[in-house]
Amino acid sequence: MSDAIRVVKASTHKPKPKDAELGFGNVFTDHMFVADFQEEKGWYDPRVEPYGVLPLDPAAAVLHYAQAVFDGLKAFRGVDGKIRLFRPQKHVERLNNSARHMCIPPLDPELALRSLVTLVGIEREWVPKAIGTSLYIRPTIIASEPFLGVRPAKSYIYFVILSPVGAYYPEGMAPVKIRVEERHVRAVEGGLGDAKTGANYAASLMAGEEAKHEGFTQVLWLDGVHRKYIDEVGTMNIMVKIAGEVITPPLTGTILPGVTRDSVLTLLRDWGSKVSERQISIDEVVDADTAGTLEEIFGTGTAAVISPVGELAFKGRRMVINEGKIGPTTQKLYDAIVGIQYGKLPDTRSWTVEV
Ligand SMILES: *Cc1c(COP(=O)(O)O)cnc(C)c1O
Repeated sequence: MSDAIRVVKASTHKPKPKDAELGFGNVFTDHMFVADFQEEKGWYDPRVEPYGVLPLDPAAAVLHYAQAVFDGLKAFRGVDGKIRLFRPQKHVERLNNSARHMCIPPLDPELALRSLVTLVGIEREWVPKAIGTSLYIRPTIIASEPFLGVRPAKSYIYFVILSPVGAYYPEGMAPVKIRVEERHVRAVEGGLGDAKTGANYAASLMAGEEAKHEGFTQVLWLDGVHRKYIDEVGTMNIMVKIAGEVITPPLTGTILPGVTRDSVLTLLRDWGSKVSERQISIDEVVDADTAGTLEEIFGTGTAAVISPVGELAFKGRRMVINEGKIGPTTQKLYDAIVGIQYGKLPDTRSWTVEV
């Protein structure tokens, strides 16, 4: 495909919300990035255009059979005024891995990276300033072919939209209450668990709603076969610290390969901490709680970076972790990642890309 990105500027500009009034994913900027795919042409006509509705036939495959993938990353306005994307190449690589899993033609990684940098560059005024706020970036690919037969579509739309988002923790990082899910499963080995696709989110909604009705923030997913090994927490990867060792499940197909997960593992290894990517059963967690060696549990993901678990409910048992307070490893990891994102700490691993 031609490398040049066409730019059509919006003639009107939306009012920008105040930093203190920002929520998550409810406001979108003035422009979006779009490219099309047709079997004969490949990906073509990469462009930035005014934000607006997509032309979509009601027979479009995505609307019927959910052939779609997405990713999620952020741009931050640093304490030095510079705008940085956090590990965008890693997100592009994952978007393409998700695409291959869903029989969607992958994007040229160089062009996909340029789509993010170009769009954020055009919308730089939309990157909020207050600490903790950011510009959320949502690249998505959908199957657009109007055809009701079940097979991979022959046409697709790639688009990127941007949304200024508020601080995930306006009052500081806060531990959450989680319930172990015993009835529903999110993903099974051989399924879609390692692809970032809407179908996984659809599969998670009912469990999440039930947990919220019972007073929990989210569920902890167990593996779909034995209902024994821990998988993820809500839409985040999970880490458990037992007797000084940080344990997270391995990437065996049911786990989404989180960029934050990878960043956390890298930092812990660099610090010389004891880290294991291995299966961990819920019984091992319960036994550690009984033995008094269950030190910390936290989720990892782009939205919150790190989300400490203060309480875990399983079979009528309530495990209170670190007295419901943020643990030292949880806090240290949060500070390290957020420090790099906002340009407060040196980026020695070249994780950020300046816009
Ligand atoms: C996106 C996502 C994560 C977190 O990935 P990050 O790259 O760290 O944001 C974890 N689990 C699921 C199911 C996800 O969709």
